[in-house]
Amino acid sequence: MPTKSESDILTLLKQVKDPEIPVLDIAELGVLRKVYFEEDEVVVEITPTYSGCPAMQAITSEIGRVLTGAGFRAYKVKTVLSPAWTTDWMNENARRKLVEYGIAAPGKVKDHLHRLRTGEKKPVKCPFCESVHTSLTSAFGSTACKALHYCNDCSQPFEEFKCH
Ligand SMILES: [Zn+2]
Repeated sequence: MPTKSESDILTLLKQVKDPEIPVLDIAELGVLRKVYFEEDEVVVEITPTYSGCPAMQAITSEIGRVLTGAGFRAYKVKTVLSPAWTTDWMNENARRKLVEYGIAAPGKVKDHLHRLRTGEKKPVKCPFCESVHTSLTSAFGSTACKALHYCNDCSQPFEEFKCH
């Protein structure tokens, strides 16, 4: 087994991207929770973005591919469901990359809940021209975790990573 520390493995696992948003790695996304050794076995803990997320299967096999490629034969990918993943776990870097990729980044959960309570609406900012003159086209985009919007200024449809 290669002698690598837990932080080396975390760096290694930055090669594992979200299959739906290939500019984001699983650490930036907040899906990668922890890496540790149990005797000689590498244990990788991940938390799905939502239960039944189809991307998790691809992420799990990609983790296996990267670890095997680095010489780790014994590893285990553990799914941890609690505490549940929230969009707040995406770091600032991830949010910036998301917008550069053309997807509106989610707001903070706290503000989202506040708006749900008060019925207050906040327009989603267009990732292309930063206009707030946008309208919701569909609550579900290409995947369940995204909504579809339309920008009235640059006339482009765009997706928003929904807050949850
Ligand atoms: Zn726009």
